[in-house]
Amino acid sequence: MSALHTAATRQLKRRLGPRVDTSKEGCWAASFDSSKISFLPAAVITPRAEADVGVVLTLANKYCVPVTVRGRGTTLMGSAAPVRGGWVLDMLQLDKIVIDADAGMAHVGAGATTGNIQRAADAQGWFYPPDPSSKEYCTIGGNIACNAGGMHGGKYGVTRDFIISLRGYLPTGEFVQWGTATKKFAAGFNLRDLWIGSEGMLGVVTGAVLKLIPKPAARWTLLTAFTDEVAALKAARALFRARVQPAICEFLDRESVLCAERATGKTVFPGQAGRPVILLELAGSMSEVDDLKFEVLSWAQSQALAYKEAQSREEVEELWSVRRKCSGAMFELGDAKLNEDIVVPMRNYEKFAKFLTRLKRDSKLPIPTFGHVADGNLHVNIMYHRADPKETKAAETAVQKLMETVVAMGGAISGEHGIGLAKTPFLRLQHNKAQVGAMIAVKKALDPRGICNPGKMFDVVRIWKYPKLQIKLPWDHK
Ligand SMILES: Cc1cc2nc3c(=O)[nH]c(=O)nc-3n(C[C@H](O)[C@H](O)[C@H](O)COP(=O)(O)OP(=O)(O)OC[C@H]3O[C@@H](n4cnc5c(N)ncnc54)[C@H](O)[C@@H]3O)c2cc1C
Repeated sequence: MSALHTAATRQLKRRLGPRVDTSKEGCWAASFDSSKISFLPAAVITPRAEADVGVVLTLANKYCVPVTVRGRGTTLMGSAAPVRGGWVLDMLQLDKIVIDADAGMAHVGAGATTGNIQRAADAQGWFYPPDPSSKEYCTIGGNIACNAGGMHGGKYGVTRDFIISLRGYLPTGEFVQWGTATKKFAAGFNLRDLWIGSEGMLGVVTGAVLKLIPKPAARWTLLTAFTDEVAALKAARALFRARVQPAICEFLDRESVLCAERATGKTVFPGQAGRPVILLELAGSMSEVDDLKFEVLSWAQSQALAYKEAQSREEVEELWSVRRKCSGAMFELGDAKLNEDIVVPMRNYEKFAKFLTRLKRDSKLPIPTFGHVADGNLHVNIMYHRADPKETKAAETAVQKLMETVVAMGGAISGEHGIGLAKTPFLRLQHNKAQVGAMIAVKKALDPRGICNPGKMFDVVRIWKYPKLQIKLPWDHK
C-alpha cells in the first residue's frame, strides 16, 4: 500500500473509528466473493449510517483509493473482489425493511437480504417476485448492482422491474436520490436505471424503494418429461405461443436430470429416468389458476412424453428440491465449473439445443444445462478438471464458442450475473466499440478518479487462470 493510502486509512479510522477494520482476518474475509479469487484490501468499512458511505467515498476520492462495494459476496463473477486492493465497503448493517402496506412498496436498506424482504412483504399480503436462488444470503444492493433475476423472470421480470427509487452516493461522495416513493416520476434523466446493473462502478446504493404486487392466492405445480431437449424446448415455445405465462418454467436437460438423480438416489420422473424435464408453476387468483390448469394439462398431453401434477405441499417441495440439487450435484462431473448464464431468444430454442449437443460432443466435456425457459435465461455449466490441461483448454474453447454462438443468435452473454471479471473476455462480443466507448464515457463522467470498483467490466481478465481458494462458503451446494 502506498504511503498516501496508509495516510488515508489513518484518517478514515479517525473519522469512523471501529467501523474500519484493518485486521488480517477482516481483510482476508473481504478479499474474495463466490468466484473464490482473492485480492487483499487494506481496510474493510462497515457503515452503520448511510452518511458513513459519503465519508468513505469523499476520502477515497481525495487520496485516490480504490473502493469495492460488497453485499454478501455471492456473485460468481468476481465483481465484488477488490482486484486493485484499497477499501471494501461492507453494506450488511444497512438492513432496515419497512413495508408500506397501503402503497404496496418496501423501503429497504441496501444490506437487507432478498429473503427477508420477501418474508416482510408476504406477512402483509404483498409479494416481491425477484428470487435469485441465493436469496437467503444476497442483499438487495447486490441484486440492484447486478440486476439479479431468478425463476420468476418470465412472468414478473427481474430486479429492474421492481425498483421505484434509489438513493446513495456518487463515486465523488455526493448524496443523490433517483426518484421518490411514487409510482410515477418523469422529472429529469432516468439515472436510476443507469445505476441498476452497473455493478458498483457508478456509485453506491444505500437504500431503495421497491414495488410489491399482491400475493398470489393459488399455486399449482406440474412436472413434464420429454423425449429429448429439442422436444422440450419446442414444447415450451408452444406453451408461450398459447399465451400461457407460468410463474415459473424451469428446464433441465438430460445431464442435469442425471446429476439430480445421482444426488438424490431417486428418479426425477418415475419411469422416465434420465429424460429432460420441464417443471412449471402457475400462480394467481384461484379462478385464474383453475382456468389455466386445463390449458396446461392439454398442452402436456399433446407435447410431453409423461406428466404429473403435484398433489400436496410436500410433493411440490420434493419437485423443487430436484431443481435445487442439480447444480451442486454437477461437481460429480468435474472439480471446476464455468457457470454461464446466457440468454437465448425463444425463436432459436431448438437451434440452441442442437448447438449444445455439438458443443458437448466436440469438447468431450459434460455441459449440463438448465434454466428459465420463460425468459430464455439458461445456465450452461461447462464441467472440467482443473488439473487436467487438456480439459481446461477444452473448457476455454467451449466457453468462447458458446458466447460467440449466443451473440450470433441474437442473445446475451449474461442474463442475471453481470460481467464482473469473469465475463470480461466476452463483453466486446456483445457490444461494439461505440457501445463500450459510451459506457466508459459514463464511467468517467460519474467517477472521474476511477475509484469505484476499478478493474472490472472493461479490462479483459481470464479469471479461470487464477488460483482458486479451496474453501466452502455457506451457500455452496457441495
Ligand atoms: C448459489 C448461488 C445461486 C445464485 N443464484 C442466482 C440467481 O438465481 N439469479 C441471479 O441473478 N443471481 C444468482 N446468483 C448470483 C448472486 O447471488 C447475485 O448476483 C446477487 O445479486 C449478489 O448479491 P450480493 O449481495 O451477494 O452482492 P455481492 O456479491 O457482494 O456484489 C455483487 C456486485 O454488486 C455490487 N454491490 C453490492 N452491493 C452494492 C451496493 N449497495 N451498491 C452498489 N453496488 C453494490 C458489488 O460491488 C459487486 O459488483 C447466485 C449465486 C450463488 C452463489
